[in-house]
Amino acid sequence: MAGQHSSDSGPLSFFKAQQEAFAETLKQRQGAENLVDGLLLQAWSSFDRNVEIQAEGMPPLACHKGCATCCTLRVTATAPEVLMIERYVRWSDDRFKSIGIDLPARIDAADARTRDLDEAGRVALRLRCPYIEDGVCLIYQVRPLACRGHASYDVRACVEAAAGLTGEIPYSAPHRVVRSLVQNAMQSSLRDAGLAFGLYELNHAVCIALQNDTCCEQWLAGADVFAAAAINEPSAEEMARTFDAIRAS
Ligand code: SF4
Repeated sequence: MAGQHSSDSGPLSFFKAQQEAFAETLKQRQGAENLVDGLLLQAWSSFDRNVEIQAEGMPPLACHKGCATCCTLRVTATAPEVLMIERYVRWSDDRFKSIGIDLPARIDAADARTRDLDEAGRVALRLRCPYIEDGVCLIYQVRPLACRGHASYDVRACVEAAAGLTGEIPYSAPHRVVRSLVQNAMQSSLRDAGLAFGLYELNHAVCIALQNDTCCEQWLAGADVFAAAAINEPSAEEMARTFDAIRAS
């Protein structure tokens, strides 16, 4: 994997290199609103670069533009991702409304149906993500790492799973592994910087952000502004223990 330490290539070294890089960004942009941009540009580019390396020689993905089969699952996101999506939704609101798409209203309606449902409940509900339009993700450029890391080799298996039929989906391991490593390294660095580092359910968290203009400021000041949307699987304590164990290794 490509990290800061080019001589090391294992997942642990990659994680530590990512963590160092995020820590540097946090140090340089501490308290500034563009911290969100810095962290996410780093996360996305690292994800893309390393998936490309890890997936070399593997079969092509079945995922393609227009296929939104998996976009009924529960999506989790970190606070920077929620804040970026909030900003994008506000910025694009007039443009989308001019073509008949009221994104804030859609997110609100989706949240009313999905709030507090667990992963199994979301699968059973089979409700399309509010950002889907004609099979295309309206927030594709700023979609969470959870969505970026979800890639399959078999569209039929995805369709059957979405229809509630049991069966294994052949997910791309490079996408899953790199997503976890990059996301967890960012979360660990956020924790070290005294910022809320949990995972949140996307619909609920974006609703909170859209209802309160000061979420970014509050998060930068150390508040867990999206706590009501927290997904405690694993809990913050468990994550903290894992991050500490990795640091000590
Ligand atoms: S955010 Fe985009 S990619 Fe993710 S589930 Fe929703 S529509 Fe699909």
